[in-house]
Amino acid sequence: VAPGAVVIGASMGGLRAAEQLRAAGWTGPITVIGAEPYAPYNRPPLTKALLRSFSVAKLDTRTAHRTLAFRRRPSVDDVSWRLGRTVTSVCVDDRTIRLDDGEELTYEGLVVATGLRPRRLPLRAPLEDRHVIRSLDDAAALGQVLAPGARVVVIGAGFIGCEVAATATELGCSVTVIEPLSAPLTQAVGEELGQAVQRVHEANGVRFCLGSRVAAVESEFRRDAAPKRIVELADCTRVVADVVIEAIGSVPNVEFLDGNGLDLGDGVLCDNQLRVAGRPEIVAVGDVARFPNPRFDETPRRVEHWSMPGLMARRAAATLASHLLGTETPHADFDPLPTFWSDQFDLRINSMGAPALADEITVLEGDLGALHGSATGAAVLYQRDQRPVGVVGVGISPERLNRFRSILQPVPSVAVEGAVAR
Ligand SMILES: Cc1cc2nc3c(=O)[nH]c(=O)nc-3n(C[C@H](O)[C@H](O)[C@H](O)COP(=O)(O)OP(=O)(O)OC[C@H]3O[C@@H](n4cnc5c(N)ncnc54)[C@H](O)[C@@H]3O)c2cc1C
Repeated sequence: VAPGAVVIGASMGGLRAAEQLRAAGWTGPITVIGAEPYAPYNRPPLTKALLRSFSVAKLDTRTAHRTLAFRRRPSVDDVSWRLGRTVTSVCVDDRTIRLDDGEELTYEGLVVATGLRPRRLPLRAPLEDRHVIRSLDDAAALGQVLAPGARVVVIGAGFIGCEVAATATELGCSVTVIEPLSAPLTQAVGEELGQAVQRVHEANGVRFCLGSRVAAVESEFRRDAAPKRIVELADCTRVVADVVIEAIGSVPNVEFLDGNGLDLGDGVLCDNQLRVAGRPEIVAVGDVARFPNPRFDETPRRVEHWSMPGLMARRAAATLASHLLGTETPHADFDPLPTFWSDQFDLRINSMGAPALADEITVLEGDLGALHGSATGAAVLYQRDQRPVGVVGVGISPERLNRFRSILQPVPSVAVEGAVAR
């Protein structure tokens, strides 16, 4: 049997890569290897509706997976799925892959789609005392303990932390969010919008300890009662919790590629066609891939948005298939417009572009100071060196936000009508 194409990572990026390899004309064997025991499933509901279902309806993971699983296209019916199997190492010179049970596979073409895992605080407290949320199993474990009245501490006020804080509050928990920066979501969308979102959280009962770092998490065990956690901040403030959730960012899953001389500094370094540097037979897709997007500049970056694995898989598969089939390589720039959304209470945040790159923030419409939820709304422009790099809508429909899409065309110096600089 010819070794064919192997995809490492059986989530959205891995599934889309397999589909797109077929769409790009690759008819040889495809094997997809995934560490989780589940067929590819959708992650965004894990912090939102599904977390609620785990808590309220005591959903089991098998039923939950049925609601989350991606529909599989007939074109990948003949793909060989190795689920519940982890790749422990790859030798790119020999084109071999070693699995956790010692099995070795060879490949002609390789797709790296291994995504991220939650970053952990380097604390003495056992990891099991602090929940994280990346996988279906993580959400199931957390949902079981989010009972009404539970005291919940969320460490980290990025998107995952804020979404979990909102869902836990809606479930009747008493939630405190601890964040070293001065407002939630600051790194992603800036302080001003972050403060507006904070006010919506506070109006719903969430407490914030901002400018605070966690120094320790201790457990207190009592006879006939569930253990209590004490979250100690650097300034010695102590916050008592029944549930502690760490949401302090993510780490790319790349260790299995060690020893091959690849740049794995922050994910797998790729060129603009998603080819792993110097290796035409390896491409990377999804959260793990670091690539330059000429829409913004030449700096390679990772993008952790749901909208990206599909777009990246299409280009990466075309790149890899053309190498494997000896056909012409695509050479148009890959310059996708990243988009993401987030749901917190009744507030929907929609983003286009890369607001995190901005050095100037301008309100295009609405009033961030008067943001209460879906009844009000605002659109915010993000510029770098006076060039638009992103637009974020809070509490406005995607259709209304879409009116600003043309601002983000990858052309230099577009004037923005009606913009009020802050
Ligand atoms: C809880 C949560 C909520 C989110 N909500 C939103 C949202 O509201 N809006 C939005 O735009 N985006 C959201 N995202 C982001 C979006 O879901 C991700 O961008 C997307 O899942 C990335 O897909 P991926 O296939 O690149 O990586 P992943 O989904 O991380 O999949 C990687 C897979 O590879 C497997 N793997 C890793 N290492 C190995 C190995 N060595 N061998 C075999 N398999 C391996 C992993 O187990 C995993 O199954 C959310 C993400 C999470 C986690």
